[in-house]
Amino acid sequence: MAKRAYNFSAGPGVLPESVLREVQEEMLDYRGHGLSVMEMSHRSPVYQGIIDDAINRVKRLMKIGDDYEVLFLQGGASTQFLMIPMNFCQEGKVANYINTGAWSTKAIAEAKKIGKEVHVAATSEDKDFTYIPKEFNLSENPAYLHITTNNTIRGTEYKHIPELPAGVPIIADMSSNIFSKPLDFKRFDVIYAGAQKNMGPAGVTLVVIKKEMLKTINKNIPTMLDYSIHASKGSMFNTPPTFAIYVVGKVLNWIEEMGGLEAIEKRNIKKADYMFNIFDSSDFFRGTVVPEDRSLMNIPFRLPSEELEKKFLKEATESGFLNIKGHRSVGGCRVSLYNSLPMRAAEDLAKFMIEFEKNNK
Ligand SMILES: *Cc1c(COP(=O)(O)O)cnc(C)c1O
Repeated sequence: MAKRAYNFSAGPGVLPESVLREVQEEMLDYRGHGLSVMEMSHRSPVYQGIIDDAINRVKRLMKIGDDYEVLFLQGGASTQFLMIPMNFCQEGKVANYINTGAWSTKAIAEAKKIGKEVHVAATSEDKDFTYIPKEFNLSENPAYLHITTNNTIRGTEYKHIPELPAGVPIIADMSSNIFSKPLDFKRFDVIYAGAQKNMGPAGVTLVVIKKEMLKTINKNIPTMLDYSIHASKGSMFNTPPTFAIYVVGKVLNWIEEMGGLEAIEKRNIKKADYMFNIFDSSDFFRGTVVPEDRSLMNIPFRLPSEELEKKFLKEATESGFLNIKGHRSVGGCRVSLYNSLPMRAAEDLAKFMIEFEKNNK
């Protein structure tokens, strides 16, 4: 039996063991077809079945209908930072963003790079991005408002979807909390997420677009950056990341078998509470985010000194708790408790932390 470590990586993240086993079983001979999914034509009926299945699962989990297009693209969420303004910020309009951390900052920078007028409608930079701004001011002629629903590095998460005036589209980067809880996905006009945080392996980005939005796309967009091209070709204008899409489909199936987003959320709350209870009961481990905005997915924290942090990280790694170092830009510690992380991992980490505190106080 393979020995699996507890993997708290922020991304690429942990995947369900059962999914990895299924992939392994189907590796050499996918369901009697005599070849691996990696080796299949993306134009074959077998592969069409695989991608259609993944698309249908996305729609079921999001409870969205045929007024949405589900795309599987390449280039990561980072390419979406460019495609969103290129496609959806029309001449004379202003791209609006709420800045809640490093990823939103990058999204803003891309819009500016391609010459769009950008308005920062709100920011939490004044307090090191440790909270979610509750109010915002849109510009005149907004093309859209872009938000990052979960901030992977700083560990904040929106608990309410911002209310917008009629006619202003809302676009969301959900890379690190997609499918972690039920959400009124229909409120969004565009949703995107790199798969490698909470949904599958790296190499594919899910993009969900309201079909109405496709009609508003700017003219003369380079082919590979034009959503309407990808939509009209069912994500097969060129070769899609076939294997990654196949694995995403399996992870979504796993979510459905777990009981769907309601059940997943319950599990995620329970896992995160192992950490929050520790922060709330002593000041040895100190969460860095205001409690009302804490993410269930990415949980950053500090210890009383950098020396103790070093010791903690070293001992944690030696004990099989992997990847709990904070992002290089902020230091400290961070655990990512994505959907696929087993309950046991959070429970055992909490025990380890309580023990560490006792021995090092
Ligand atoms: C990781 C991450 C990105 C970047 O994703 P890539 O797929 O590496 O381009 C963007 N936004 C958020 C919120 C992320 O967590």
